Amino acid sequence: MAARFAALEKAKVVVLDKARAATSGPSAFAAGDILCWLPGEEPLEEWIEAYFQVGAGLNSREWLASLLDTNYRLILELNREGFPFEKENGKFLRRSGRGPLVKCVLAPMFKFQEFSRELCLKLGVTFLDRVAVTKIIFSGGQPNGLIGFHVRTGDFIAIQAKAIILATGGCSFRGPFFGQNVVAGEGLRLGLEAGAKLAYMEYGNHYNVSLAAFNTYGQSKFMAHGGKYLNSLGQELLLKGASGNTIVKALVEEVKAGRGPIYMDLTGFRERELIEKLMPNLARLIARSGIDFYGIKHEVWPAFTGTSNAAAAGIFIDRKGMSTVPGLFAAGDTAAKGLIVGGCIGLSGISLAWALYTGFLAGKNAARYAKETPPLRISEEPSFEEEQNTIFTPLRHKEKQFIARDLLIKTSQLMSRVDISLIRSEERILTALKQIKESQQKLIESAARDPHELMIWYETLSTLTVAEAILLSALHRKETRGDFYREDYPEANPELESVLGVEKSGDSLVVTKLGKPEEGYR
Ligand SMILES: Cc1cc2nc3c(=O)[nH]c(=O)nc-3n(C[C@H](O)[C@H](O)[C@H](O)COP(=O)(O)OP(=O)(O)OC[C@H]3O[C@@H](n4cnc5c(N)ncnc54)[C@H](O)[C@@H]3O)c2cc1C
Repeated sequence: MAARFAALEKAKVVVLDKARAATSGPSAFAAGDILCWLPGEEPLEEWIEAYFQVGAGLNSREWLASLLDTNYRLILELNREGFPFEKENGKFLRRSGRGPLVKCVLAPMFKFQEFSRELCLKLGVTFLDRVAVTKIIFSGGQPNGLIGFHVRTGDFIAIQAKAIILATGGCSFRGPFFGQNVVAGEGLRLGLEAGAKLAYMEYGNHYNVSLAAFNTYGQSKFMAHGGKYLNSLGQELLLKGASGNTIVKALVEEVKAGRGPIYMDLTGFRERELIEKLMPNLARLIARSGIDFYGIKHEVWPAFTGTSNAAAAGIFIDRKGMSTVPGLFAAGDTAAKGLIVGGCIGLSGISLAWALYTGFLAGKNAARYAKETPPLRISEEPSFEEEQNTIFTPLRHKEKQFIARDLLIKTSQLMSRVDISLIRSEERILTALKQIKESQQKLIESAARDPHELMIWYETLSTLTVAEAILLSALHRKETRGDFYREDYPEANPELESVLGVEKSGDSLVVTKLGKPEEGYR
């Protein structure tokens, strides 16, 4: 989306993606719920208040108003352009989900993304697929380009740009859950290293619910339209209106109390046709599995997706979608959603709504920023030669082993533990931090043997950085607020009603208080 809105401003746009831009990330796998207020239904103020109330003091009414008001206009515009949306009698089909006042418009996201790519091509956008970006280059004190490499050929790639938008998704720790295995927090690391601030990192702990038998999604639709969670005694867990992480915490507590496992019962689910249309990959999996998905209850468990999906964590942005570094923008899961969700994790439809809104903000404003920025003098132009040398360092560690994949899996296993990322204590956070620090040291000394392994090496570097930022923020928030739980600090502390930021200081990461969302941007 950011590329489209930048191109509409007549900017020259290049999109780099380590897989295939538009159809590779979680967007293409999404269940297609896009939260959208529409005029003529409830008053806008009612929506703003409902979402503000669940944010636990960490979100902003101004941001909510801007998101809701802008997004319905964008959705009308995309609809006019021919983007696919589900309709009934010529009107947008509306469905509910998890959260306070949830009404979504629906779109088949694979088709939507493919359509978006085609329109971008018509607007003159250049796509460079299979290019992993590894570093932002500075010149004359401002970001001036990106470097990376082709993940198949290993060719070095350097792009000069007066404005850069990081839209690399969140960090699922390349988790095993549906559609999550390409997002490793690389934009967050790139932003941090370029001097940008991250925010809400302690809220980078989104959990979905999946079947235990095989990897699924769509719980928000299932539960909003007739599905139930049952404990082992057959009792229904009453969780209407709760956020995703509150639901998962309730499931975990049932198990801790000896009433597990937890089952999903879809015998009362009424929307099978919609699943076929909006989640064709899930429908195919269900058909292939041979299980009676809708007819009998099935065991479920928590599916960790980290800062990806409806988590709050990301790069701190201003109302133009720009980070604290001029010229560096962020959109989608890379940008901190906390500004609208605060401390509430797992709201339905919020992530696609945020991706659309921040794509618009960042695209439009990055294009304008680039237009207003004079070209660099020849003497200021960056030299990419030195960078070309350092980017491939792991390939030169001939005598060392390739261990990045093992470290990545180990980190994913650690961070997905509910006693590390959902119900926390100082002791466990410190133990986890120690493991992350050890893994960082091992990674730096390790090798990659080909471009594919080099890509995994950089993904591991990013996940370890994001894990460190999450754990440091979690250590700092000595309280329980919204969907952030500390066993050792079970109450809210009014002094911590502040956004926490993480930034680089020398080689270390430091946590600071950024104040209220509107105050925090410096
Ligand atoms: C199964 C599933 C169902 C979901 N359902 C919904 C839903 O119904 N409603 C909702 O609101 N949200 C839903 N979500 C969440 C939502 O899809 C995501 O939050 C959103 O799509 C994120 O979009 P994004 O633009 O940030 O980028 P993403 O779609 O995350 O894409 C990021 C892209 O960046 C590329 N990339 C990453 N690192 C690099 C690098 N170093 N160099 C180059 N390229 C890189 C990746 O290859 C990828 O193409 C769902 C997610 C999943 C997985």
